[in-house]
Amino acid sequence: MPNNKHLLIVEDDELVQSLLAAYMQNEGFKVSIASTGKEMLACIDSETIDLVLLDLGLPDEDGLVLARQVRARSSLPIIVVTARKDQKNRLAALKIGADDYLTKPFDPEELSLRVRNILGRADDGDTSTEEALRERTEIFKFQGWVLDAGGHILTGPDGDKVSLTRAEFNLLCALAKAPNRVLSRDYLLDAVSQDADAPTDRLIDVLISRVRKKIEPNPKKPEIITTVVGCGYKFSAQIE
Ligand code: CA
Repeated sequence: MPNNKHLLIVEDDELVQSLLAAYMQNEGFKVSIASTGKEMLACIDSETIDLVLLDLGLPDEDGLVLARQVRARSSLPIIVVTARKDQKNRLAALKIGADDYLTKPFDPEELSLRVRNILGRADDGDTSTEEALRERTEIFKFQGWVLDAGGHILTGPDGDKVSLTRAEFNLLCALAKAPNRVLSRDYLLDAVSQDADAPTDRLIDVLISRVRKKIEPNPKKPEIITTVVGCGYKFSAQIE
């Protein structure tokens, strides 16, 4: 179905660029293209972009550096699409806040699904009303924080919204839904990742540490998300 979401494809390979643009346009997205990091930043500044598809190997700048620059100033969703298959790059991308990671060659249908997932099922129109309602009413309050699972909003004790990547948000929701229960890294991986070839448990540790930095009064002595040595993590705050 048509939608008004605006994708920015950052890719220097002209063939991949045009195939991807054609596919996504056909899927109903508005598409802009950047071939270099410089063009990408200029486009983000001048247009309203909803999501960036980012190649890591660009002629003028490393995609990871660009992703970090974007993340430093906004929560604009980023999907890294790259030929780099190694775990190090994948972790690095997720660590600096990319929302998802896909290696080339990829199935454009899968990419399109991931894009839609991140942009929110609300626009899809095929989520059942019941399910949508149930998700919408899932609100968790703890230590002054309000986590609105359906609305994908986290509000801090001072009333300010805190931006989380999709993986960070899903992780926090999975924990808050099972307060005072130990959740293993495996379980949490399932909750945050839709990858068949899911990255290692190390990803969970990275995400936990990022979420703690955002919500714990003292991230070095966490009291909301606690570590259960040898087992996993536990949501230890009182849900009101
Ligand atoms: Ca490239």
